[in-house]
Formats: sequence, structure tokens, C-alpha cells
Amino acid sequence: MKRVGAHVSISGGVQNAPLNAREIGARAFAMFTKNQRQWRAKPYTDEQIEQFVANMEKGGFRPCDVLPHDAYLINLGHPDAEAREKSFSAFVDEMRRCAQLGLIYLNFHPGSHLRQIDESACLDLIAESLNRALEQTEGVTAVIENTAGQGSNVGYRFEHLAYLIERVEDKTRVGVCLDTCHTFTAGYDLRSREAYERTMQEFDSVVGFSYLKGMHLNDSKVDLGSRVDRHESLGKGKLGIDPFRFIMQDERLDEMPLILETVNADLWPDEIAMLYSFQE
Ligand SMILES: [Zn+2]
Ligand SMILES: [Zn+2]
Repeated sequence: MKRVGAHVSISGGVQNAPLNAREIGARAFAMFTKNQRQWRAKPYTDEQIEQFVANMEKGGFRPCDVLPHDAYLINLGHPDAEAREKSFSAFVDEMRRCAQLGLIYLNFHPGSHLRQIDESACLDLIAESLNRALEQTEGVTAVIENTAGQGSNVGYRFEHLAYLIERVEDKTRVGVCLDTCHTFTAGYDLRSREAYERTMQEFDSVVGFSYLKGMHLNDSKVDLGSRVDRHESLGKGKLGIDPFRFIMQDERLDEMPLILETVNADLWPDEIAMLYSFQE
């Protein structure tokens, strides 16, 4: 079965996220674990945690249907040790928050070298941060998202993802999330059946489908290989609608969260219904 959803709001508290997802017809969802613009947030109350678990049940969601996203402030590959430590602490806090909610994934953008170190040095720092974070937490898999490669972000090549996985000691707690917009603007075409298959086969041979824990379904405002991260509603951008048809008909992507981060949340119920209709 395909599990499509969207990155839903946590306004009023994380416990509302499963209900927000259910309202739009989602079978999966993403959310922030706290206000993503702040470094610190109050710990969850016991009541919040109980409500979250109860609402998961109400919405019919399993822990593996949820792909929480970390704060955009976090840079596990920050060249400056003090700044990196601040990111590391925030990341560990988010992993613990996921565990408290009974969730099993934390999706994150690998990091940025800020033009102060080279890409491989940045990737080494990220791997080191990840190993430490996994040591200090339990039960949550760190899910690395591929990036568009905008600015000094690493993670835009499948090789970057493989490089990180190779250096993570506990391979049972590392995974990846492919964002269609990022994949495309990083230079991997998805627009024809042939291009889609070629890209997916390249992903499989470089990283491996066994590491794929979810996907972000976004069209792109910008063109193939432009290395710019600008999401668009499905079918309204440079990717067009076909890649999403291929995804919905791809059995390798069954039973994992397929999450919309498209620009117009009002369209999510229609986008979700359209995606499900592609299976017929
Ligand atoms: Zn994404
Ligand atoms: Zn993006």
C-alpha cells in the first residue's frame, strides 16, 4: 500500500499533527518536533505525549508512517566546533523528542560547509556528529535527506549519502529520504519513464533501496541541475506530473511515508487524492 501525506502543522502542540494529517486524507505525515525557528523548546508534557499517541491511533498511523523533520538551523557539519556543538545538542534533543512520542525516524538535511572547508571534510564532520548522536540516543533512525546542493549544502550527490552511511557505525539506525525536487535540481532527471528508472537504478547501486525510509514529493520551480531548492505544487513546475505517476506505480516505494512539502497547503487534499488515483 502507498502511504501519502504532507508536512502538517504542529500549531497548538505536536499532539495535533496526527489529526491535521487525518483531516487531509493522509496515510502518512511529517512534522517538526518543535518550533523550527528556535534552538530551544520546552520539553513535552506527559499529557502531550499521551494525546499524541492517542491521536496516532485515531488517525490510523503507525510510527513508521511518520517522518519528523529537524529544525533548519541545525548544521551537523558546521566548520566551527562551537557552532557544531550547538547543532549537535539540538539534534540529540530532537531525536529524544521523537523517541518520547514513540516515533522511529528523524529526517534531517546533512549540513553545509559554509565555504570554510571542503565537501569531504564537511561530510566527515557530519558522520562524526551522527555517530555521537546515535550513541547518546535509542530507538530512532537518522534519515538523511538528499539536497538540491544550493549554496554550500552537501548531500546533493547520491555518493554523499553513501559516504555518510559508510561512516556510520550502526547501519541499522541510518536511512535516507529522497526529495523529488532536490533530486531533480541536483541534476538527476525523473521526467520520463526511462529517466526515472535510470535515476532510481543509480540510487540503488550507489546507496541501496534498503536505506530508503521515505520520500518528499515536490515539483520544482527551477530546472534540472540548477542546484536551487524551490518547491512547486505537483504538476505546476519543471518536473510535471509524470514523475509522481511513476512513483505511485513503483512497488519499491510501498509502505513508506511519501510526503508533500508543496507550496500551497490548500491543495494538499486534492494532491493526495490525485496521487492515490495514479495507482489505478
Ligand atoms: Zn524535503
Ligand atoms: Zn527543499
